[in-house]
Amino acid sequence: MKKLFALLMSLTLLLALAGCGGDQPSNTPNQGGAPNASASSITPAAITERGVLRVGVKTDVPGFGLQNIADNTYSGIEIDLSYKIAEQLGVDKVEFTPVTAATRGQLLDSGDIDMVAATFTINEERKQSWNFTTPYYTDAVSLLVKNDSGIENFEDLTDIVVGVATGSTSKAALIAAAAEAGVTLDEDKNFAEYASYPEIKAALDAGRVQAFSVDGSILAGYLDNTNHIVESIRFSPQDYGLASKKDATEWAEYLDGLITGWLADGTMAQIVADNGVVASYTE
Ligand code: GLU
Repeated sequence: MKKLFALLMSLTLLLALAGCGGDQPSNTPNQGGAPNASASSITPAAITERGVLRVGVKTDVPGFGLQNIADNTYSGIEIDLSYKIAEQLGVDKVEFTPVTAATRGQLLDSGDIDMVAATFTINEERKQSWNFTTPYYTDAVSLLVKNDSGIENFEDLTDIVVGVATGSTSKAALIAAAAEAGVTLDEDKNFAEYASYPEIKAALDAGRVQAFSVDGSILAGYLDNTNHIVESIRFSPQDYGLASKKDATEWAEYLDGLITGWLADGTMAQIVADNGVVASYTE
């Protein structure tokens, strides 16, 4: 019995070492039986061979990732970047998957997408989980408020509820920026978390929250004649990077090489300008 148990244990260990039952997604095409089972199946060569680049993008961020529902086309900096990367790979098809702040990491981890190009802020904590390229754009966090709110500075936030997205950097950034200005915001009392930006906008319109906080680029998609962005409250630079699955190191280096090159030769600035996005955040 003991022997059988030991045999079973070593078999399990062997299987685990060989990568069986690991996190290989079921829909990842066979990459021709890569001999090294621990290497990622997401490599530039594998994507080229597959003939499709799979990218997680935003659908509701004008200038970055915007979906035109009528014809299911996408536009923005992150869309143009995706097509340019596909061109470099010799791939003529790009498959866009809508992502949110709460879903983009999981979609990378599962291997359902090759990269995220979705206003994804680079920070130390996230770098533990995913690879990020050099930043291709820097935004700042701000607040969207109703025109009659009277909100102009951090002190005005102590008695209100701010809507933020689950999985975003916004809440921590706002608490830190207010603290720097000598204002204490309560993580629970002053915030309400929502899964999506349209829900925060609806909450703002219904008066359930008195401010909507996230990167200025994202807020721009929710401007209408009843609200405005508080120009005097812009804080916490948000460096956007292309993200890839942690073990896809060759792919991450490839992406970083492209972004670095495009920042140096003016291609990146051209893409930003082509999409009508003006300035990057400066202190
Ligand atoms: N850029 C911020 C973040 O990565 C805001 C959230 C978002 O991108 O949706 O957390």
